[in-house]
Amino acid sequence: MKRIERSLTLFSRAVRVMPGGVNSPVRAFKAVGGTPLFIRSGRGARVTDEDGGEYIDYVMSWGPLLFGHAYPPVVSAVREAALSGTSFGAPTEREILLAEKIVSMVPSIEKVRLVNSGTEAVMSAIRLARAATGRRIVLKFEGCYHGHADSFLIKAGSGAATFGEPSSPGVTPGTAADTRNADLNDLGTVKEVFKACRGEIACVVVEPVAGNMGLVPPEPGFLEGLREMTANDGALLVFDEVMTGFRLARGGAQELFGVVPDLTTLGKVIGGGLPVGAYGGRADLMERISPEGPVYQAGTLSGNPLATAAGLAMLGAIEKEPDLYTRLDRLGARLEAGITRVLAERKIPGSFQRVGSMFCLYFSRGRVRRWADAAAADRERFRKFFHRMLELGVYLAPSPFEAGFLSAAHTEADVDLTIDAAREALS
Ligand SMILES: *Cc1c(COP(=O)(O)O)cnc(C)c1O
Repeated sequence: MKRIERSLTLFSRAVRVMPGGVNSPVRAFKAVGGTPLFIRSGRGARVTDEDGGEYIDYVMSWGPLLFGHAYPPVVSAVREAALSGTSFGAPTEREILLAEKIVSMVPSIEKVRLVNSGTEAVMSAIRLARAATGRRIVLKFEGCYHGHADSFLIKAGSGAATFGEPSSPGVTPGTAADTRNADLNDLGTVKEVFKACRGEIACVVVEPVAGNMGLVPPEPGFLEGLREMTANDGALLVFDEVMTGFRLARGGAQELFGVVPDLTTLGKVIGGGLPVGAYGGRADLMERISPEGPVYQAGTLSGNPLATAAGLAMLGAIEKEPDLYTRLDRLGARLEAGITRVLAERKIPGSFQRVGSMFCLYFSRGRVRRWADAAAADRERFRKFFHRMLELGVYLAPSPFEAGFLSAAHTEADVDLTIDAAREALS
């Protein structure tokens, strides 16, 4: 057994002063049981907990750390920026440099606004979509996550096409009335909502590769279908690329799948591990944002010097390595082949799903195509697998509904150790 005394002590202190002892729910290990590990440090592909235990990390801060922990170019950029002041609330050159890089790398973005989190980015993008279309309804997909703004804490009601229901206390029925859910990879359910809400849909928001219900790739024709249906209806298409942006390709999922949205939200990788989000898109839409236009949105720390320095170092590193995404994809393919082999050896039903460096192992009977499939997977088996892997020095996301992330700091040897650990964990 690994020693976790210090994590236990820290957690008992944490729960006294913070709800659930954490600042974001999934960290609390509720989905898998047990005590969360308190992390002391990270370097490359590894993290060390407060008791000195070392783990190969596949959480990677939930996606941002494309080059691993304490990546030297990011660390020195942040350190250097801090020496000149941490925040001014006035324009700085780094904001332009980061915006120029984003505009040059992401196909659909002509203008961009920096914010402080993914939540803020998506919340602001839908305000803009509503303003630009003069419509009120947002259509999203069951199992996709777009941050914790009220408009997205809505599940399908019993008549999914006609109304949504709050999925959290504190969200008003009024807000729920302005959100609809459809099923991922099922254009039929999208069509139904469009029919039921004719002329009322401001935008369709989608994770082009869904990474918050495990990992569900878009099926051929799905994103293209959304593009066509929104264009025909006069609704906007918003790609929430907070997770996929700069992770799956330089230009995100939209580059990978060749579908161009009207608006895109970013976060995670563009902050290099600091709090950053962004939303951008067609210039004629972005020009409606304050102070150029009437749609209000602001932020005291937006475009913060440390965050933009980290983001610039990150995007600079991405540009410097032309075969980065091929390399990540090769690592991913190695992990996929290994884990799939282990499942077959052990005769355990499961589906290892992957796009590039994002992956998920579902203990499901077949492939997971939508939320209902993910929800039906074997959670008890995942819980045991998670804890065995942790014992064996592999830190996976503490939930069966989260994606895992490889970074450029992971090696083939790390992947092979992980496959060996999985073979033992599933014995
Ligand atoms: C993480 C995530 C968000 C929320 O970003 P925060 O920075 O946690 O607010 C929104 N959308 C997607 C797709 C995400 O993965």
